[in-house]
Amino acid sequence: MGVDRREKGEVPAAIIDGRAAAAQMRAALFERGIRLRERGIFPCLAVVIVGEDGPGRAYVRSLVTAGKQTAIDVVVERLPSAASEPMVRAELERLGRDPSVHGVILAQPLPPGLSIRAVAECIPADKDVDCSNPLNQGRLAFGSGTDFVPATPAAVMYLLRRSPAWPIRGKHCVTIGRSQVVGLPASLLMLFEDATITVTHRHTRDLPSHTRSADIVVAAAGVPRLITGEMLRPGCTVIDVGTTIVDGKLVGDVDFESASRVAGAITPVPGGVGPVTNVALMKNVLRACERLTDGP
Ligand code: ADP
Repeated sequence: MGVDRREKGEVPAAIIDGRAAAAQMRAALFERGIRLRERGIFPCLAVVIVGEDGPGRAYVRSLVTAGKQTAIDVVVERLPSAASEPMVRAELERLGRDPSVHGVILAQPLPPGLSIRAVAECIPADKDVDCSNPLNQGRLAFGSGTDFVPATPAAVMYLLRRSPAWPIRGKHCVTIGRSQVVGLPASLLMLFEDATITVTHRHTRDLPSHTRSADIVVAAAGVPRLITGEMLRPGCTVIDVGTTIVDGKLVGDVDFESASRVAGAITPVPGGVGPVTNVALMKNVLRACERLTDGP
């Protein structure tokens, strides 16, 4: 495909379809879930939510739906917004001990004064399906292998595998954002696939100079439409992790209109990383359940 024509905006980017990818993954997971249920084991994810202003109903609904589609029970435990750190710890430990629970996550955002870092060690490593426990984070960071790749970075990798950029060995990946839940682990996972990584963040000078040399851009800054077409190298692959509500609509970190005229392949928002994320989480729940109960 001619780069000149792409530069002129004549060749639209291929769309990396997260909904189709998620549907495929779900079908395989559902079978695994059913096999467990037939043995009298009911895979179960417990979601701890603190406060009323935390993750909204839509998020909880999406988890329950993803659970239904993969034969996993999802139970939601709500704590009051005034819950103290010891209360949150006690709840995570209780779920950790409960043999009918196989995966535990603490939903974010948390009320001010509570931090996931302070309590994540209370989620037992073998039920830590979103890789929040420092033990699992360390295993992930140093490549010794963790059972649980956190859901959003796992979704990024899953979509990259389905993109024309795969394999990424030797390619230049630029991540925008270095958060502990997305940017940093996604960067590490790409590094482990032998890509060359640049991690940018809010203090990075001249962001476009980095993105313009990228074969792959992973945008996870939480800044709507931060990345525009003129910041991209023609033919590159763009994975947009951003999800900000602007005027009632879900908007990514990438300006799809301009970017899709320059990129070779791009994930849309909605319909890109989002749908795969919940399925990636459910995959970890099934893995935890199979491990805790001795096999599929
Ligand atoms: P997420 O959960 O999507 O990773 P966070 O708010 O936890 O979002 O982290 C946002 C990340 O994006 C931070 O690492 C921050 O430095 C980075 N970031 C924010 N604004 C910009 C910007 N304008 N340019 C580059 N990076 C940015």
